Amino acid sequence: MKLENDSIREAAAKIRFKTQAFIGGGYVDALSGKTFTSENPATGKPLAEIAQCDRQDVDKAVLCAREAFDNGPWPKMHPNERKEILVKLAELIEHHGDELALLDALDAGKPISDCVNIDIPETVHCFRWHAEAADKLYDQISPTGPGTIGMIIREPIGVVGAVVPWNFPLLMAAWKLGPALATGNAVVVKPSKQTTLSVLRLAELAQEAGVPAGVLNAVSGPGESAGQAIGRHMGVDAVTFTGSTEVGRKFLQYSSESNLKRIVLELGGKSPQVVMGDVTDFDYIAEHVVNAAFWNMGENCSAGSRLIVHKSIKDALLERVIAKTKEWPVGDPLDPATKIGSMIDKRQMEKVLEYIEVGKAEGAKIALGGNRILRETGGYFIEPTIFDNVRNDMRIAQEEIFGPVLVTIAFETEAEAIAIANDTTYGLAASLHTDDVSAAHRLARAIRAGTVSVNCYSEGDITTPFGGYKQSGFGGRDNGAHAHDQYTEIKTIWIQLK
Ligand code: NDP
Repeated sequence: MKLENDSIREAAAKIRFKTQAFIGGGYVDALSGKTFTSENPATGKPLAEIAQCDRQDVDKAVLCAREAFDNGPWPKMHPNERKEILVKLAELIEHHGDELALLDALDAGKPISDCVNIDIPETVHCFRWHAEAADKLYDQISPTGPGTIGMIIREPIGVVGAVVPWNFPLLMAAWKLGPALATGNAVVVKPSKQTTLSVLRLAELAQEAGVPAGVLNAVSGPGESAGQAIGRHMGVDAVTFTGSTEVGRKFLQYSSESNLKRIVLELGGKSPQVVMGDVTDFDYIAEHVVNAAFWNMGENCSAGSRLIVHKSIKDALLERVIAKTKEWPVGDPLDPATKIGSMIDKRQMEKVLEYIEVGKAEGAKIALGGNRILRETGGYFIEPTIFDNVRNDMRIAQEEIFGPVLVTIAFETEAEAIAIANDTTYGLAASLHTDDVSAAHRLARAIRAGTVSVNCYSEGDITTPFGGYKQSGFGGRDNGAHAHDQYTEIKTIWIQLK
């Protein structure tokens, strides 16, 4: 598919959706026969009728996964063989990249150019990276005396439940499935009911690549029923989750009230972007600030939603940030020029608009945007919005808005900048801009966040761990070799030599 209007629309008109759950190696309806309607948030129109799985479907999926793990070939396979299958999966995703990109664009209102240029290549890279790691990670021998051998080995944990969100539907699933499958587990994945289509298709591609039946099961359905059933299931050994802190907490409760399954949570954020007074390249910084705040409509857990800038340069920088933001077209996600698509649904749009009103009532000043736009499309579009004169104790500076809203807070001293950056219940990511290498090192260590990027906005890449301090995360990290820890148990084998 060329990234041109006509070919995208032609492909969108022809696309066929997989709307059933994928359990035990094939597509199936929900046992109740129920379906729910998935909506295209850029038009407000129905997109597909999807199988509405609940507890009994989760039971079936876990049973299949359990059987595949306990008696199937996958966990016992030579890592090299698992690698080959997952590399094949990466190739299939690449081959069907346009289709998968379109599914996410239609389902989530994400700009097609982001889906094609970011989500799909990163998904491919994620599967390939973890596949390639499968036969390159070594176990350990402990430093015993000559009469004994202490082996410290890692084994797959068993059946993994992956409950994933709507903001990066395929990519967030890949972040979980790549390492979980590479380490030999069986998985039950539940995409968000807002965005099920790409994950349902992915399950079929995994089967085509050679992943044995039952190893990867995808259940579509609401979090309250299907998600909770995974969290409470006695046959699930670990849950890996990305989403809100509120629901993350529930998984800890599900675990404590069931089988003490391992829980790994990647949660929300209110990430600071600190700009020191010594910087000179305002255009470069403005580009990164805008990307951090508005990429993926700000529906991004690591969004740099707080601009914390030295008082002496605040007005000059803000002027450039506003000018750069105006270069980001808002509109039809299928238009390749679009940089900001629609909010995920009406509820999220209303939540963001409410926060904008809260900000005004708190005394912050709107420097740009602030409104719902493109109503005539039926979609849920909000123009990128920038607040000035914000204090860090305001709700718009403390609470995760998860929309295209950037707040600007001024500081005078480095200590003040650090204090403001850290004055949050979250700690997922941060970026900082300075031309002073010593200040960069001091601040990077002082800011309490899982990822601190210096002189750019970045989440790192597949080689670096991603996850949060404080209420942004729990129990582990996605990405890099550290992700494998989530999905493996450590076993000691102690051998007495005779
Ligand atoms: P949720 O945390 O509700 O959703 C994340 C996943 O959890 C989805 O698959 C969802 O299923 C599932 N889920 C929801 N409720 C339960 C439950 N009671 N038990 C088990 N699983 C459940 O996020 P929302 O989609 O509701 O968004 C709300 C807010 O969460 C956003 O405004 C944002 O602040 C934050 N968020 C953060 C994300 C991140 O990347 N860290 C991603 C998404 C949201 P389903 O959607 O099908 O109900």
